[in-house]
Amino acid sequence: MPVFQNLIGGEWVAASSASRNINPSNTNDVIGEFAQGSAVEADRAVAAAKAAFPEWSRSNPQMRYDILKKASDEILARKDELGRILSREEGKTLAEGIGEAARAGQIFAFFAGEALRLTGETVPSVRPGVGVEMTREAIGVVGMITPWNFPIAIPAWKIAPALAWGNTIVIKPADLVPHSVWALCDILDRAGLPKGVLNLVMGRGSVVGQAIIDHKDVAAISFTGSVGTGRRIAAACVASVPMKKVQLEMGGKNPLVVLDDADLKTAVECAANGAFFSTGQRCTASSRLIVTEGIHDAFVAALTERLQGLVVDDALKAGTHIGPVVDQSQLDQDESYIDIGRKEGAKLHWGGERLNRENPGFYLQPALFTECTNAMRISREEVFGPVAGVIRVKSYDEALAVANDTDFGLSAGICTANLKYASHFKRNSEAGMVMVNLPTAGVDYHVPFGGRKGSSYGPREQGAYAKEFYTTVKTAYTLA
Ligand code: NAD
Repeated sequence: MPVFQNLIGGEWVAASSASRNINPSNTNDVIGEFAQGSAVEADRAVAAAKAAFPEWSRSNPQMRYDILKKASDEILARKDELGRILSREEGKTLAEGIGEAARAGQIFAFFAGEALRLTGETVPSVRPGVGVEMTREAIGVVGMITPWNFPIAIPAWKIAPALAWGNTIVIKPADLVPHSVWALCDILDRAGLPKGVLNLVMGRGSVVGQAIIDHKDVAAISFTGSVGTGRRIAAACVASVPMKKVQLEMGGKNPLVVLDDADLKTAVECAANGAFFSTGQRCTASSRLIVTEGIHDAFVAALTERLQGLVVDDALKAGTHIGPVVDQSQLDQDESYIDIGRKEGAKLHWGGERLNRENPGFYLQPALFTECTNAMRISREEVFGPVAGVIRVKSYDEALAVANDTDFGLSAGICTANLKYASHFKRNSEAGMVMVNLPTAGVDYHVPFGGRKGSSYGPREQGAYAKEFYTTVKTAYTLA
């Protein structure tokens, strides 16, 4: 059985315990034993990152470019293999896994360039003879805590900007998907990162994650995960001495509005892809399909037909459209929400059944509810599975009001052929990302990513904008 260790201070080190990583498409398939760190390893990793910071933060940007570019080249060259690693441990289809691995490679290439593009400003002072400079500096040791649903892309979009702008890192990946981050850290280590710049401590959130958050030498925390964990992390960052900078990317209850004038095929594709691909396990998944009366019945019929054609099976098998749910506890959560939806009076129009396949795995047929109201729990709480509900509305105005009536605000979409409604929706949606005739999930990597309300807190991630989090501004005054 392969054994995977933590990376601390440039050395691969064993931990006192290990945990088994299981393939959700086939629970008989054990991927390997992964080190389970403790607070001791977290402390050592922070100490190593702290020691590496002075030199790395002042390193030549050409050196940072070269390392990030080398990592990008290797990720892209190995995208099929890395995609397979990812799909095997997370359960998204191989095509999705390979696409995500390629995305990680693109992100490293983008941020390699960003290492060379950091600029400052000089402005005239309001005082005679004084010059003012505004520059950006690295913030220090950044703790990163990542979720299981994008095992390589999310770590990549945190690690790459942090390194590009001179920070050092301690990362704790989600317990369910350590292999992808392990592979990424191995690539970066071999790409020439000095010892201690990037440290990997696998282990439980309540143990390793908590130790990173509580550590006084960690300057900032970048977290992606659920709202509950995020809220606790933000409170701990504010309470710590000194206070920590914090960035949270959390859940969603993303609306897809379908208007009478929408192209039916486009609307069905947006809904099928946005709600059910990647097993619905995306923070940007469309879980509320808000449909106007005139197209409602045709849309539901066409979407149902599309869902009937989707193959739910082993993530690594050719022809699979939807892989398994990630684990038993997520499957229990999905099934409990299907039950809640029924009891609340929504109609389970299609799917929602447990499925058996060749190997034992967590297979669930996509579930489409109709006759939903926006007050139901399945319309208000994040399920994080292949479960979506249709809410019938009378007009565009009602659709917009329902779309915005949520505690979340990550992504929102509209399908319409009417420029007036498309423009109005772009301006008036209370989400961080708005899609017109596109699925709510699926974004570019060179522009900001993030939401409003309960979905995000702190500066956005990705693109050049990521420097709002990964650098701090200094204002210097000089008497000439
Ligand atoms: P989670 O909150 O359970 O776990 C996220 C990470 O936090 C894991 O690494 C976990 O080990 C760690 N953690 C748990 N308890 C901790 C603690 N007490 N202290 C420190 N760390 C702790 O979330 P998850 O189930 O892994 O991921 C699913 C969630 O992530 C969903 O809500 C989804 O919407 C969200 N998500 C958001 C985005 C986004 O960018 N907005 C992207 C992907 C996923």
